[in-house]
Amino acid sequence: ALAAQVRTFDGHGRTSDGHAVPLLANIGKPDGAQAAADAGAEGVGLFRTEFCFLDRTQAPSIEEQVSQYRQVLAAFPGKKVVVRTLDAGADKPLPFLTNTEEPNPALGVRGLRTSWRNPQVLEDQLDAIAQAAAAESADTWVMAPMVATVEETADFVDRCTAHGLRTAGVMVEVPSAALVSGPILARAAFASIGTNDLTQYAMASDRMLGDLAALSTSWQPAVLHLVAATCRGGEQNGKPVGVCGEAAADPALAVVLVGLGVATLSMSPRALADVAAVLQTVTREECTRLAGVALAAETADGARAAVRAELPVLE
Ligand code: PEP
Ligand code: MG
Repeated sequence: ALAAQVRTFDGHGRTSDGHAVPLLANIGKPDGAQAAADAGAEGVGLFRTEFCFLDRTQAPSIEEQVSQYRQVLAAFPGKKVVVRTLDAGADKPLPFLTNTEEPNPALGVRGLRTSWRNPQVLEDQLDAIAQAAAAESADTWVMAPMVATVEETADFVDRCTAHGLRTAGVMVEVPSAALVSGPILARAAFASIGTNDLTQYAMASDRMLGDLAALSTSWQPAVLHLVAATCRGGEQNGKPVGVCGEAAADPALAVVLVGLGVATLSMSPRALADVAAVLQTVTREECTRLAGVALAAETADGARAAVRAELPVLE
């Protein structure tokens, strides 16, 4: 039924009662930025900078980084663009930064952890992001991947502040970060939940293994409880929590996420129109009620079925 009423996204995500839910794009390389803007994205919720440098054996120069980041910021004048620092490792090894010999790369020195050994790579990247931000009019936010603790958050925010980057946040994609999101969000300006990794780590199921697909879904009530915990941390501190994992691209799950307190949804640009269309059929209060329905389910299939049954537009 959804496909039968395909419309284009008008660039304003909202519920039927007018509660705004900015719908943002996930992008990799700069050439995806204009396409995301053309698809109506209200900004970028996740710029995966590591995709710019996947094949490199040497770290990119600051100048090269500035030029790549400026291309992305330039596609969103006056709009929010969340730049994620290099999430190297596991499924995205960067030859200049990660050790591919680790026995458990998903649990290894990846994401922000690479800065323990190689702080200069992070410093140079923050320098490049700051220069790009100063040269363009986009509202540039910065966030770190794979944050697990309050100390990591404080260290990252301090480094960003030293570079003049005032809106510094963290991804919540490690269950520990969801559970201590209160003190994390006392320090960070925002959080963005990476449901792909949050699900992988909560369920101990490799996100790359199709055999584990039944476990690796963000409809798992355990994952939804972690999302709810993160939103509570945001509420306690008056800080916004977004979602930038694949869960945001599932229209029924997007409704649940909004009901759990998620402020923005970031997704692959092709998902924007469907998510916008389903959100427009529910009030914010209905989102809250459907979030309760999902949290009360005992299984992922049960949560999905119960929520979908109450969204006639998806029948
Ligand atoms: C995630 O983990 O959900 C996420 C958005 O980051 P990535 O998919 O790049 O690991
Ligand atoms: Mg991730």
